Amino acid sequence: MSLPGIGRLQRRFRGTARLFTRRAVILLYHRVALSSPDPQLLCVTPAHFGEHLEVLRKYRHPIALRSLLPALQNGQRPSRAVVVTFDDGYADNLHHAKPLLERYDVPATVFVTSGYVGSEKEFWYDDLERLLLQPGILPETLRLNLNGRLHQWQLSSAVHYDKDSYRSYAGWNISQKDNPTPRQELYRSLFQTLLPLADEQRRKLVDDLLIAAGVETSGRPTHRVLSPEEMIQLTDGALVEVGSHTVSHTVLSTLPTAAQAEEISQSKARLEEILGHRVTSFAYPHGGRSHYTEETVTAVRQAGFQCACAAFPGIIGRATDRWQLPRFLVRDWDGQEFAHRLSQWFRS
Ligand SMILES: [Zn+2]
Repeated sequence: MSLPGIGRLQRRFRGTARLFTRRAVILLYHRVALSSPDPQLLCVTPAHFGEHLEVLRKYRHPIALRSLLPALQNGQRPSRAVVVTFDDGYADNLHHAKPLLERYDVPATVFVTSGYVGSEKEFWYDDLERLLLQPGILPETLRLNLNGRLHQWQLSSAVHYDKDSYRSYAGWNISQKDNPTPRQELYRSLFQTLLPLADEQRRKLVDDLLIAAGVETSGRPTHRVLSPEEMIQLTDGALVEVGSHTVSHTVLSTLPTAAQAEEISQSKARLEEILGHRVTSFAYPHGGRSHYTEETVTAVRQAGFQCACAAFPGIIGRATDRWQLPRFLVRDWDGQEFAHRLSQWFRS
């Protein structure tokens, strides 16, 4: 990778190093893959991920999540420390990310959704992308029965989505304000409708939609989660560790307390059964402050974890709560943009 201007960045880091030596940052990735469309902005290309790791290795101090905790406890964070984490447990974390992590000797934690391990199912939001943002024909009307209330979408001009539209709008994502075609509008609407639902109910609704549209209910190999064997391979060599991300990736704050505790402890038990060793870290699905509650935090502590990651941005400092560790979401930036953002985060 050639990084024009890296000398300037180096000087900037040196100049500010004294001010920010006792701060640390946790990065949040999802996938290392070339995938399009990517409406949730989950993918970082392998080329860009390699550039990120080169920046971390040259200008920062990459450490494992488990090393950050003792440092948090005794108030001695390593200088310029950066922790790499991945959420969800996609198989590309083994096949694309791990070789690069090894090349740059950067440790990482992968938070795995245990209910999907070894499954052919895609996450429901990936299914929505497959259903709505790939070329194809949908029924005239989509109906969803939610707790006795019928939700209905008349698709009219959204019935057909041809290859030209697919190519034209492959770069669309949910953070954009506009909906270039009715398909994107429908994606947004269904995403909001399905997000707060219980897993079983949502799974059935998504499967019904896939069947109604004549789309396979088993998922694409490119979008699957690690198998048990792959999870063992991922942790082989101890550079990458596995943490828990619940069983079903449901928004925990929508569940009764007992069901939250089950999602948390059953996921830990399943991952430990596969790996044969303790799983000590946890990440809240979706991870915003509204996606978990005080009861969730208590359940995580009681399940025997040592820390938990959220998904709101923030710097790790002396007062950081180890049960709600902030993380910065990383997007598909090139090395220069990544270095610039990282520099900003350390100053925040
Ligand atoms: Zn997640």
